[in-house]
Amino acid sequence: MEELIKKVESNGVVITKVDDLLNWARLSSLWPVSFGLACCAIEMMGSMAANYDLDRLGVFPRPSPRQSDVMIVAGTVTFKMAERIKRLYEQMPEPKYVISMGSCSNCGGPYWEHGYHVVKGVDRIIPVDIYVQGCPPRPEALIGGIIELQNKIKTESILTQM
Ligand code: SF4
Repeated sequence: MEELIKKVESNGVVITKVDDLLNWARLSSLWPVSFGLACCAIEMMGSMAANYDLDRLGVFPRPSPRQSDVMIVAGTVTFKMAERIKRLYEQMPEPKYVISMGSCSNCGGPYWEHGYHVVKGVDRIIPVDIYVQGCPPRPEALIGGIIELQNKIKTESILTQM
């Protein structure tokens, strides 16, 4: 069998699994819903600008949750915003992912002890796939989180989710 695959591939034909092909397409075209909550959002915007160019990883923000498969929660999650975040998340189609960016979103950050108005971690409202540390995390850290998410997508079977 391996001989046959080598022979076919030597003629410019690639043999792969359907899951691998679909996952390759999905991880190469992640669409985060574009919104920011506080200072971490400035670093998120920086990572999408020319110096870091998240576009080269296929990451391109969308203006609507209905067109998005990733939510980057960048900033302080106040109780006032929590319900909106949940509603936006519920509007995203499956399969969908959440990156929690920064200490505020991970656990309440500097508001952890006395912030009566802050949710102590966005994972109390919606499921989180990747946590990015920092206050704020630098664009390199967010890019690291996105690569981590891409590696996670690689191991999934989209066919079982359909
Ligand atoms: Fe601002 Fe730090 Fe909170 Fe990010 S983690 S939103 S930089 S206070």
